[in-house]
Amino acid sequence: MAILIATRNAHKLQEIREMLPGVELIGTDAFPQVPDPVEDGATFEANAAIKAIAWAKATGLTAVADDSGLEVDALGGAPGIHSARYAGVHGDTAANNAKLLHELEGVEASKRTARFVCALAIATPEGVVKTLRGACEGAILVDAAGANGFGYDPLFVPNGYTDSFGVLPDAVKAGISHRAKAFQAAREAWADFLR
Ligand code: IMP
Repeated sequence: MAILIATRNAHKLQEIREMLPGVELIGTDAFPQVPDPVEDGATFEANAAIKAIAWAKATGLTAVADDSGLEVDALGGAPGIHSARYAGVHGDTAANNAKLLHELEGVEASKRTARFVCALAIATPEGVVKTLRGACEGAILVDAAGANGFGYDPLFVPNGYTDSFGVLPDAVKAGISHRAKAFQAAREAWADFLR
């Protein structure tokens, strides 16, 4: 049985492929006529569910969607569900990262705690939906470091490490990331959905 992965982010698709060896995964590129749904939910879970339900209905396939972002404690949880467009333009990583560093100027190291959060939603064409969450705790650097990964990775040092996800090898991130933890939590649910 093939599963549709409802993301247009090539990095995320690659990370998900590595987490689900042996499962036939179809990307959204296979359905160019399907429009992206409006993600107007108030939580990561709500937005993941909106995407998974829309894609499952449109394609007749079981669909998996994720919604993820960065919560920074000193900023009251911002950028949160607005992570992709924190500085105003969707996907402008350089501007988003610059804004985050600016907002945290003068905030001491011990108060720069943050977490990446990933909500996963699995939806069947019949409308059965399950959502799960994974988080990866860490802290925000004062200056970006490294070019691995994507988004806020060069600014984020996961707990237990001294290097950012921009410096750490992809394999390390794949083992401890918010997305990996959400998929671990989803493993049991898979059994039901993959039947
Ligand atoms: P989404 O595509 O709506 O889930 O937006 C997620 C946004 O959160 C991305 O555009 C990134 O800015 C940020 N983000 C989510 N996951 C990661 C990650 O693994 N590393 C770095 N940034 C991430």
